[in-house]
Amino acid sequence: MPTCQNCHKKWSWKQTFKRSFTLGGGMPCPYCEEKQYLTARLRKRSSIISIILITLIMLGNLFFGPSYISLFVLLGLIPIYFGVYPLFVEISNQEEPLF
Ligand SMILES: [Zn+2]
Repeated sequence: MPTCQNCHKKWSWKQTFKRSFTLGGGMPCPYCEEKQYLTARLRKRSSIISIILITLIMLGNLFFGPSYISLFVLLGLIPIYFGVYPLFVEISNQEEPLF
């Protein structure tokens, strides 16, 4: 779970989860209202994970033929992904450039 870099309070799973859907412009801390940003490392990681998932689904379709199984697997993975995502979130005071 992330810790606010401004007031050093730990965000709960629910707080992190809710703030993960804030688009752009950073996420306000529930304690001090200071905006926090996802670290570049985390953003890189989450894009790698989505690329891996898409590749796995494509490969699954290639080897087993287009089937609903991969779709069901994907639909099963999404809640797991969102469930564990807040546990690995890292935040910083500043928006870090990706490259
Ligand atoms: Zn804070």
